[in-house]
Amino acid sequence: AKDHGRNNVQQYESVMNVHAVERLQLEKDLRKAIERGEFRVYYQPQIDIETGQMIGMEALVRWQHPERGMVSPGLFIPLAEETNLIVPIGEWVMRTACEQTKRWQDAGYPPIRVSINLSAHQFAQPTLVSKVRAVLEETGIEPQYVDLELTESITMTNVDRAISTMLELSSLGLQISIDDFGTGYSSLSYLKKFPIHTLKIDQSFVRDITKNADDAAIATAVIAMAHSLNLNVIAEGVETEEQLEFLRERRCNEYQGYLCSRPLPAAEFENLLASELQM
Ligand code: C2E
Ligand code: CA
Ligand code: CA
Ligand code: CA
Repeated sequence: AKDHGRNNVQQYESVMNVHAVERLQLEKDLRKAIERGEFRVYYQPQIDIETGQMIGMEALVRWQHPERGMVSPGLFIPLAEETNLIVPIGEWVMRTACEQTKRWQDAGYPPIRVSINLSAHQFAQPTLVSKVRAVLEETGIEPQYVDLELTESITMTNVDRAISTMLELSSLGLQISIDDFGTGYSSLSYLKKFPIHTLKIDQSFVRDITKNADDAAIATAVIAMAHSLNLNVIAEGVETEEQLEFLRERRCNEYQGYLCSRPLPAAEFENLLASELQM
């Protein structure tokens, strides 16, 4: 039995080693990925529930690894966060998404808003506001079309500092959304002080919205609260007509999800923009 135990330990250790080696390799690859141009930005539509019009899109990063193929953000974003590489990656995403959005506007497509995810590390950088300002100026995008998504936990880590950074950002003329709303611990009294435009209901509440009474109650309450605070509200992860109907009945403003489209590479997203033109 003792031997067996030791064997198990050895096995366990070797698995850990493989993970550590693989992790290290992935980290090395990640460091080179920016200069090698391996990141892509995909775009997912955000739809006005009342009119059915596309009024925004979320920029979502993808990593096209030379050997592994497409690496999921669920895998490399946490690694990028731990290593601080999320800062240059996030800046690249912001610049690329703003350039692309401006290019589409200049090409005559209906102007829509672009939402960009900000990581905790980016938000904590003293240079954030000047970097955002530089991206706005250099790409020429009108700030009203730019929306920065911050998670609840980012804003709650140091509330006073978060409010002053959000105020500086919103003074640039752009919008701010609270992402994954409902998963953190935002106090409602803070929410009122935040200079934000939008709450995004996390997809974990949307998934069973038509089946689970608790999720239905939470989503209903978030929508009502957003409206009473004069905030726009977006439901994410909408996959079925039933979910959409539930949201429509409660006057949720926008939705995002596979029901409309998966996140798409720019060339394919452009087809969606083109079909909006013909509407
Ligand atoms: P998120 O910001 O909550 O983004 C929404 C995620 O839900 C995306 O996953 C999207 O593809 C997925 N999704 C959209 N519609 C549906 C649906 O109908 N059903 C389901 N099951 N999923 C749906 P993705 O692209 O894999 O990104 C995962 C997370 O990685 C994001 O969650 C965000 O936290 C992070 N992330 C992605 N791009 C960036 C980035 O540029 N910067 C930073 N800091 N984080 C990013
Ligand atoms: Ca997001
Ligand atoms: Ca989200
Ligand atoms: Ca999420």
